[in-house]
Amino acid sequence: MPREFKNYIDGKWCDALNGKRFENRNPANWEEVLGTFPDSTAEDIDAAVQSAATAYEAWRLTPAPKRGDIIKRAGDLLVKYKEEITREMTREMGKVLLETRGDVQEGIDTAFYAATEGRRLFGHTAPSELPDKFNMSIRQPLGVAGIISPWNFPLAIPTWKIFPALVCGNTVVFKPAEDTPATAARFVEILLEAGLPENVVQLVNGYGPSAGMPLVEHPNVKLISFTGSTQVGKLISATASRDLKRVSLELGGKNAQIVMPDADLELALEGVLWGAFGTAGQRCTATSRLILHEAIHDQFLALLIKRAEKLRLGNGLEPTSDVGPVINQKQLDRILSYIQIGKSEGARLETGGERYTEGACKNGFFIRPTIFSNVAPEMRLAREEIFGPVLAVIKIKSFDEAIRVHNNTKYGLSSSLYSRDVNAAFRAMRAGVWTFSNGLIPARPPARSRDHVSNTEMRLF
Ligand code: NAD
Repeated sequence: MPREFKNYIDGKWCDALNGKRFENRNPANWEEVLGTFPDSTAEDIDAAVQSAATAYEAWRLTPAPKRGDIIKRAGDLLVKYKEEITREMTREMGKVLLETRGDVQEGIDTAFYAATEGRRLFGHTAPSELPDKFNMSIRQPLGVAGIISPWNFPLAIPTWKIFPALVCGNTVVFKPAEDTPATAARFVEILLEAGLPENVVQLVNGYGPSAGMPLVEHPNVKLISFTGSTQVGKLISATASRDLKRVSLELGGKNAQIVMPDADLELALEGVLWGAFGTAGQRCTATSRLILHEAIHDQFLALLIKRAEKLRLGNGLEPTSDVGPVINQKQLDRILSYIQIGKSEGARLETGGERYTEGACKNGFFIRPTIFSNVAPEMRLAREEIFGPVLAVIKIKSFDEAIRVHNNTKYGLSSSLYSRDVNAAFRAMRAGVWTFSNGLIPARPPARSRDHVSNTEMRLF
């Protein structure tokens, strides 16, 4: 019998008021039901917001360092339960243990960072031009923060939003992704075990339009923090702006890696391999376009295909798996449809391009790592976010052309350049490209550092 998960509203674990539930299944084995979850609607959101608004009155007056102490304890508990959460997250959303461990680690790091912010909520003073006047600004919380998160980083992303909101004195209503509700429930349990007063956080499960949108529309929610698709982000921004709410959005990407002839090709190969196929390509910062200089194009592509074909697909819980499944049937269909689009646009399918159903993968949503070459920058394959293990390779003749192709997208999330030319590196950064060059430039991490992947981190090589 699958576990019946609950909402957490007004200090109690409870069902949705309409009594409805939805199922969550393991993407590596569709036959495994992980649990059922409340299919909440506007009335549950309303109850949660009312309770969070009441709790706000005491929480905002709790000294910020004390709020930080609770977050520090939550970080300690994440350390304690790291392996348990890691394994459950892999069962819930598929990525391999190395990556889910990194996801939890990001939550831990965020806790320890946010905790100390409790002692650093400084204000400003400025001299006034008038006599007997003090000019000063202090930091004040806003009230109830609505948090809406995606499934691909089920712990890290909620912690990026919830810990800062709490340390600043806001209360929280959390609507997690419908594909990862179990990780969200575990996170709320940990916050409560850490000593967060009940009602300061509320958990409401459900689908985007029926549970997420009522949170965005609720008049007592003062701030919305959303991570997810650009399409939904636009809708949320437009809706929240009607009431002049504060809105924070982290949306999609169509990220490129540029490799120039003078690059360390082994480093560049590692970068693109894990950038494109880590988390089965389901990262906002995934490498989706590879921009290759013609001088190394054929050689690099051949090496890349060889490495991609060696990646082992399988259940993320198995230590032998390099790449797990994609999240659900809808995403599987969407990725396969983009593969068809690529073929019909005239790109050359070099490897992959199909569902993988060998052995234990027969009941999972696995797609073979897919590489298209001969891609033109104007093709949909090169312009639209696919969010799957599909890489579009574009050949260029010069650095300037690389930058032009790189910037020929409506997205602007992350990117990288592999080169040893420091001048090219700085020109690329000015043009919006992060840079890799041995020992030289602070850079976005190559995706090989898979146990700690973030879109905001920098490392030295
Ligand atoms: P999604 O937009 O479908 O869903 C994200 C969240 O929004 C879920 O909780 C969902 O229930 C909710 N939602 C959906 N429709 C809604 C609506 N009409 N009103 C209110 N809420 C609604 O995205 P996803 O498929 O879960 O995640 C993948 C997307 O997220 C990709 O585009 C990816 O690039 C992006 N993403 C961005 C970042 C970043 O930091 N920039 C990080 C991770 C994922």
